[in-house]
Amino acid sequence: MKIAIIGTGYVGLPSGVGFAELGNEVVCIDKIAEKIEVLKAGRLTLFEEGLCELFKKNTASGRLKFTTSMREGVRGADVVLIAVGTPPDPVTKAADLSFVYAAAEEMAECLDGYTVICDKSTVPVGTGDRVERLIREKNPQAEFDVVSLPEFLREGFAVHDFFNPDRVVIGTESERARAVLKKLYAPMAGKTQLLCVKRRSAETIKYASNSFLAMKIHYINELANFCEHAGADIRDVALGIGLDSRIGPKFLNPGPGFGGSCFPKDTLAMDYMAREVGVDLTLIQSAISGNVLRKKLMARRILKAASGVSKPRIAVLGIAFKGGTDDCRESPAVDIVRELLLLGADNVVIFDPKAMDNAKKIFGDKVSFAPDAYAALEGADVCAVLTEWKEFKDLDLARAKELMRRPVLEDLRNMLDPKKAQSLGFAYDCIGAAQGEKPAL
Ligand code: NAD
Repeated sequence: MKIAIIGTGYVGLPSGVGFAELGNEVVCIDKIAEKIEVLKAGRLTLFEEGLCELFKKNTASGRLKFTTSMREGVRGADVVLIAVGTPPDPVTKAADLSFVYAAAEEMAECLDGYTVICDKSTVPVGTGDRVERLIREKNPQAEFDVVSLPEFLREGFAVHDFFNPDRVVIGTESERARAVLKKLYAPMAGKTQLLCVKRRSAETIKYASNSFLAMKIHYINELANFCEHAGADIRDVALGIGLDSRIGPKFLNPGPGFGGSCFPKDTLAMDYMAREVGVDLTLIQSAISGNVLRKKLMARRILKAASGVSKPRIAVLGIAFKGGTDDCRESPAVDIVRELLLLGADNVVIFDPKAMDNAKKIFGDKVSFAPDAYAALEGADVCAVLTEWKEFKDLDLARAKELMRRPVLEDLRNMLDPKKAQSLGFAYDCIGAAQGEKPAL
């Protein structure tokens, strides 16, 4: 099949590579010329585990192409995927759909033949209707259907998730469009469920999924607070509740708060959408406000670990919103460092294995940057682990202790070996264990 993908970000690019790998002819379109130049030159514009090899293979075979021209990309396409950003509106926090609508208007006059236009971007209920109207107004002759095809991939696992989705949700009332998409997803049909629903249901499913996951994280974080005061151990508790098949073991790792380019904005957008139709989603509202507060409390916790030291040097390990990606959008680590700076910390040093370029863009000269974790730890009074990178789990704690001025670990991802840290003489603090009683690994 011929596929055009509008937007070469964290969704569009892995999807383009994936569909090309499945044998389709894919053209990825982006309005940022520099991105397209880099991609055309055979380099990736973002980091995703395993993406590089497939990208090289499929560009070499000619199945994967890049362009800035909507006409060139969309011409002759059987399927067009819209994968542009839907960031929160700075004032209302509703999803800003200007990129989606612009893409729809730009593509309208480029369509030829029957085309299935899919919203892969996360968009509020009713967006499909508006996209359809916009295209119809611009090009009344066009033969097309607009489908909601929400994306569920996880950054850091985008390649894996593309080929092994938990489900594919196809939201359309059109039989014809459904048949085209069933053909497109035929290679996955044996191992995953293709769920065909109304377009508005598909749009809702995406927000409902992300809001549920955000609430699950918030729940375990609140339980962790409880455990810290009740002498319980959150790891035991998470294990115990996760073994209940109605609850499940995933998303029960406590941490510094949920973040990333999806959960914060999608919970806000869901709340906005609900209020627009007069419904109060109080659980989601509570998760949103609790999560904001949590990051502030985490910053205070780090500073408390440095209390008594004037101008403490704080080593921050990890700034990406999670391991396996360079994406720092709405990263809890970024918010925590911002809060540290607001609270007067003036000697913060950051290291992240993949997100240093993004960190530099965010913080400029307000913090310093280290070339590796050990360099960050040199002379540090506190080490705060804020992103779950494997290399932090494997940190040589004996070497870390030698390098630090004060051996204090704030393990806000519960990654390090508490017994080892304590046996080496570290003051070790993690999430969800009572003071002095740290969880066994
Ligand atoms: P992104 O910001 O990384 O990428 C969007 C890209 O679209 C940018 O490169 C931008 O230049 C391009 N673009 C915008 N308007 C364009 C236009 N008119 N023509 C051509 N290119 C255009 O965004 P992302 O993280 O890939 O997210 C895309 C959508 O997918 C969002 O709605 C997001 O909520 C959703 N989503 C994201 C994830 C994720 O993990 N990042 C997962 C599931 C769903």
